[in-house]
Order: sequence, then structure tokens, then C-alpha cells
Amino acid sequence: MVRINTDECVSCGGCIDLCPTVAIRMVDDRVVIDPEKCTTCKICVQVCPLNAPRVLEEAG
Ligand code: SF4
Ligand code: SF4
Repeated sequence: MVRINTDECVSCGGCIDLCPTVAIRMVDDRVVIDPEKCTTCKICVQVCPLNAPRVLEEAG
């Protein structure tokens, strides 16, 4: 799965609409990824200008 490094994410929201499984949400001005929905497609990793999304493990 992928997790957002909250120290680096500036909550620009740029990744939210691009996630094909709608796994990314804004919660209290913080961007979070639902691990149940994330397929580790890495689109958010590629689009984030700040390298905030980090791949923790490949999708099984
Ligand atoms: S890796 Fe893909 S599925 Fe997972 S949160 Fe990012 S864009 Fe969504
Ligand atoms: S694109 Fe990057 S900085 Fe913007 S909300 Fe997504 S993870 Fe955060």
C-alpha cells in the first residue's frame, strides 16, 4: 500500500481526483489513504510534486 508522509504533504489535493479507486480523502485538512482501497498503482506517487506518498509494500 501507499501512505502519505504528512510531514511533506501540503494538502494540495492534486492526487485525490487522480486515484482510480478513490482511496485518497481529505480528513481534517490532512490527506489520508484508505489501505483497503489502495491498489498500489502508484499514480499518486507519480503526480505528487513533493514525494509525499510513499510505497510501503507492493499490492499482493
Ligand atoms: S497508489 Fe493508486 S490506488 Fe493507492 S492511493 Fe495512490 S493513486 Fe490511489
Ligand atoms: S499531491 Fe502530494 S502534496 Fe498534494 S495532496 Fe497529494 S500527497 Fe499531498
